[in-house]
Amino acid sequence: MTNTHIKSVQLVALQNRLLLAIGGTLNAREAMLSFMRLALKQLELKSAHIYIFDDALSDDRVLQRYQSIPNINTSIDTKTILNNLLKCLDNTQEKSHISETLSSNEITAFPFGSSGLVILEKNGDTLLESVKDVISPVVSKLAEYYNICLHQQHLDDEAEHNRAALLTYKQQAKIDPLTKLPNRRELHYSLSKEISNSQRYNHYGALMYIDLDNFKNVNDSLGHSIGDILLTLVAQRLSEQKRAGDIVFRIGGDEFVYILSNVGSNEAEAMSTSITVANRIIESLAKPVDINQYSLHITPSIGIAIFPDTFDDGNDSENVLRHADTAMYRAKKLGKNCYEFFNPEMHIEATKRLIIEDHLRKAIKNNEFHLVYQPITDNLENIIGAETLIRWDSPVLGTVTPNEFIGIAEESNLILMLSEWITQHACAYAERLFKTLSKDSLFSYISINISPRQFIQSNFVESITSIIDMHAIPNNFIKLEFTENVLLDNIDITIQKMEELQDKNIDFLLDDFGTGYSSLSYLHKLPINIIKIDKSFVDDLHSEQNNTQVIINTILVMTEELGIKCIIEGVETPQQADYFKQKCVYGIQGYFYHKPLPGDELIRLLVEDKPEKLSLKL
Ligand code: C2E
Ligand code: CA
Ligand code: CA
Repeated sequence: MTNTHIKSVQLVALQNRLLLAIGGTLNAREAMLSFMRLALKQLELKSAHIYIFDDALSDDRVLQRYQSIPNINTSIDTKTILNNLLKCLDNTQEKSHISETLSSNEITAFPFGSSGLVILEKNGDTLLESVKDVISPVVSKLAEYYNICLHQQHLDDEAEHNRAALLTYKQQAKIDPLTKLPNRRELHYSLSKEISNSQRYNHYGALMYIDLDNFKNVNDSLGHSIGDILLTLVAQRLSEQKRAGDIVFRIGGDEFVYILSNVGSNEAEAMSTSITVANRIIESLAKPVDINQYSLHITPSIGIAIFPDTFDDGNDSENVLRHADTAMYRAKKLGKNCYEFFNPEMHIEATKRLIIEDHLRKAIKNNEFHLVYQPITDNLENIIGAETLIRWDSPVLGTVTPNEFIGIAEESNLILMLSEWITQHACAYAERLFKTLSKDSLFSYISINISPRQFIQSNFVESITSIIDMHAIPNNFIKLEFTENVLLDNIDITIQKMEELQDKNIDFLLDDFGTGYSSLSYLHKLPINIIKIDKSFVDDLHSEQNNTQVIINTILVMTEELGIKCIIEGVETPQQADYFKQKCVYGIQGYFYHKPLPGDELIRLLVEDKPEKLSLKL
């Protein structure tokens, strides 16, 4: 077909054929090639080219060769020519194509939508204007098609990306990123499956709720990175205990769940296997963990629920988990580092905890607390100091003992508010009492119990000092009682805080000595001047089964060598009192001499009863 012979029918036919060429494929690149091949043949071209802008939106548009037929370097491929054509097209916007002659060949440029240019190079002669007019809409269609494909490709890429993200998300949603153990969400799924299996096949399974004791202290004081290492190690140790079919989950901060599937065909068997596994877990966690300079002792409290559940409230995973959680709380209460099986009475216990916490929140505001003071006597029964103890008379719950609410206050952080109230009121009382003392009085201090949570606050020393400073008492009239739990913290920070207190002349003593981790090894490291030996030693003093007296003697000899004074607490009988009097301990505290007293009564005892007592002694 030559230029001269082209008639309108042929033009339409040409256009249709070109359109068909681009419509026959789903791939833009193929469509372009097929268009160029056909054009090359039908229009007797020397070459055909498609140029695409690098970035069509940029002001500085740069054309890149996208496809050429034949695929050779042509003289068209120079910036000057292309830019000229581009400029001409831009300037004459009503024109759908522009032609130029280059080395006796006509070059026609068609805008490729807004994405670039299509260039057709004629061999020797020129293309008819009517042919160019026919080609122009085909090129526009091709550009449209190219853009659709590009968009589709983009969507495909995006979908692929989303699919990958979804897969990762789905995996992550089931797995705890730190320990790589399955998480709480996965627990519910697996547990429901285990429960229905146990019902269908008539066997029992067990769920252990494992909570690490005092983990909060580690995290708060040694930092989260050490806490994280510890959790990973615990996860490892728990996983090492697994038999086929068992699953370990991490369901919260320091909370793990261990599911034992098929542990027997009756409850007794299930319980017995669970006990074996629980003991194995306790044993495996007992090995100290060395991280940096710290040697950490981690112990678990384990609550166990057997399923299928024989209790009334159904067998869904929520209930089994809740029962094990309740049993775990019981284990904590029983002294930690142990396991407990769920029983229905524990429900009542768990509910009671919630009720206490609820009332505790309002109790400070409602003035429901008061303080009492328990005297401490020396060998001659003179009162040398007194310990501040809190009392709570709730109008709704009645008397709630500190053992019942201090732990709950600790866990819910209410202890911080409560401690401030205690310190303020104890100091105010100390000031009142101090004023009544004669110069030669042997009474030398009021002590205040400090909770571990309070001690680890970074502003602990300042806040205590600021309260003491507000009162007209010598700083050393207040002593702080710390339990060994605070020593679990970063030992350097503990020592630093203790030294700051000493610099301010505020003394402190180590309470409940002998119940904690490695009391004796701490003593020489810490600037401690007084310890209070725990009541449990006193209780066992005259029992024949153990050698408590030997232990007490060892503690007394050692503390004497270190220049540390000892107070004995919980002395209830004359025999116990005599025993410690003979040992010449620094102080004795216990019901045998004095119960905790209201402040006024202690003052009366110190001031008003004094002459009477003296005359008695004379
Ligand atoms: P703790 O610091 O070891 O206090 C001594 C506990 O032993 C007191 O119990 C006291 O009443 C009791 N006790 C003293 N002598 C005897 C005795 O001869 N026999 C018997 N059976 N018990 C004796 P309480 O007041 O019930 O306090 C229990 C625990 O609650 C305290 O143990 C302490 O850990 C905590 N607590 C009490 N008051 C406060 C407080 O104001 N702040 C803080 N953070 N904790 C407190
Ligand atoms: Ca105490
Ligand atoms: Ca104590």
